[in-house]
Parts: sequence; C-alpha cells; structure tokens
Amino acid sequence: MQFHPLEMGIEVSGRAVYSTLVGLNNLRLPKEKDLLGFTNSETGIIALDLDKWYSQEIWLKVFEMIAVMYGDAILFKIGFAIPDNAEFPILPESMENAIKTIDVAYHLNHKKNGEIMYDKDTGNMQEGIGHYGCKKIEGYNLIIAECTNPYPCSFDKGILTAMAKKIKGNAIAIHDESKPCRKNGAESCTYIISW
Ligand SMILES: [Zn+2]
Repeated sequence: MQFHPLEMGIEVSGRAVYSTLVGLNNLRLPKEKDLLGFTNSETGIIALDLDKWYSQEIWLKVFEMIAVMYGDAILFKIGFAIPDNAEFPILPESMENAIKTIDVAYHLNHKKNGEIMYDKDTGNMQEGIGHYGCKKIEGYNLIIAECTNPYPCSFDKGILTAMAKKIKGNAIAIHDESKPCRKNGAESCTYIISW
C-alpha cells in the first residue's frame, strides 16, 4: 500500500529525498507542518543534508502530505523529473536494461541495517523495500513493470514514463487498470510500457 513502509528501520538518502522535493519547483511546501523536519518551519524552504540518510517511514509521511496537497498530476510530474534529478547508473541502450536500472537506483538510495541495499561489486540486492519490476514481452516493444514498493502510484508512473522516453521519445507508460492499484490499498501497481 502506498506510503506504508514494508519494513521498519529503512533509511532513504538525502539526495533521493531532495530530488523528489526539487521536482515541486516553485510550488509552496506546507511550512506550517514543517514537513517533519525536512523543511525549515519558518520559510518552508527545503532543509536537507544531501549526504545524510533519513527515516523512510517519516519520508513516506511527508510524501503523503505532498500527495494530499497536490494530487496525482503533481506526483506524476515529480516522478517524471526523478531520472534527471536523482543519481542513476549510466543509461543503458536497451529499453529493458534502462527500466531495470530503476530498481538498481532505487536500492542504491535506500539503506537497511546501515547498509546500502544494492552492492555495486556483487550485484546483490537486499529485500525490504519492494521493487520496480521489468518483464519484457518477447517479440513486442512491450514491458510489463509491476511496482511493489511503498511509493505512490502516479509518482512511479512518472518515473517509468521519463525513463522510457529517454530511450525512445515515443514511449508511453499506462497503468494496467485490470490489475490492482496501491491507491486502493493493494500491494502493487502494474504499468505497461510500449514504444
Ligand atoms: Zn496504481
């Protein structure tokens, strides 16, 4: 379900939080709420240490406040900006590998028990934050991306769309309405990427 951590004690990188908040551009942040310490309560300006790691549980609460204030269109927009604002591995040439790097970047930006959840040397990924799935349909320009992470539906659609468009300008990502949706309390959302 969106905004509910799958496990407690997970941390998210300041850089990942910043790259999300920066996608709000000039939109006003709810300064009266202080965004649980992510913004200066006087000015509403983002007050983040990019090199610090923050509680994912608190970050998801902040994210939920943003979602309630601004709605799905803005969540899509900040998701769309993520591949440009966040640190990603080098962009591969194929659509399949590009979509796969989302899950790698996702795990690189989270820590469990003080350890980054993707080991660049071994390629090992720790479980605990769900995934950005990627299943290529052979013979077609189609990828099924099942997202089982606690981030919001429209935000993930934005990330997937932006990443796909980096490889092929005409690519689109649609939400598979025949599948469950995290907005309705489900564990996952499924998107169909075509180009
Ligand atoms: Zn959904």
